Amino acid sequence: MGRLAVCPGSFDPVTNGHIDIIRRGAKIFDQVLVVVFNNSAKEPLFSVDERIYLLKESTKEFPNVKVDQSDGLLMDYAQKHNAEAILRGLRAVSDFEYEMQITSMNRRLNPEIETFFMMTNNQYSFLSSSIVKEVAKYRPDVQDIVPEIVAKALNEKFKK
Ligand code: ADP
Repeated sequence: MGRLAVCPGSFDPVTNGHIDIIRRGAKIFDQVLVVVFNNSAKEPLFSVDERIYLLKESTKEFPNVKVDQSDGLLMDYAQKHNAEAILRGLRAVSDFEYEMQITSMNRRLNPEIETFFMMTNNQYSFLSSSIVKEVAKYRPDVQDIVPEIVAKALNEKFKK
């Protein structure tokens, strides 16, 4: 099966920033398992099923990327699937503190599984699902920052 990385997130919805991390991760690891977790601190726009559908459609060109969901603890999921690593993206210093906290806890839960960070491409350093949603609420032109199918789904959600 080779080296497996779990790429966790809310993906509400998936953006080109996420896709960039997934694409680059898929070159390094034999398998990347993108897993949708319901972040209890966030009120989602898309249901888990919708997020999974959008992720599957946006990653179908990568043969070693699979999409899944989980309600439990990330480290339990990773352990169950024999993952070697957790794959996360870093945008700015503002991501660092949050990631540091989670990574320290995850290491305590399972020191065998490394967290692997990749710096965002500069063109995506401003990009987050929240910003995309904010823009899409008022204007339909988000097609350069999210996969085409996501732009369509956003326009559908916010259609007046
Ligand atoms: P979470 O709720 O777990 O933060 P997100 O869907 O917001 O989930 O993010 C999932 C992962 O993707 C995180 O590691 C985040 O830092 C990364 N990420 C989000 N947007 C970008 C981007 N524009 N460039 C690089 N990484 C990103």
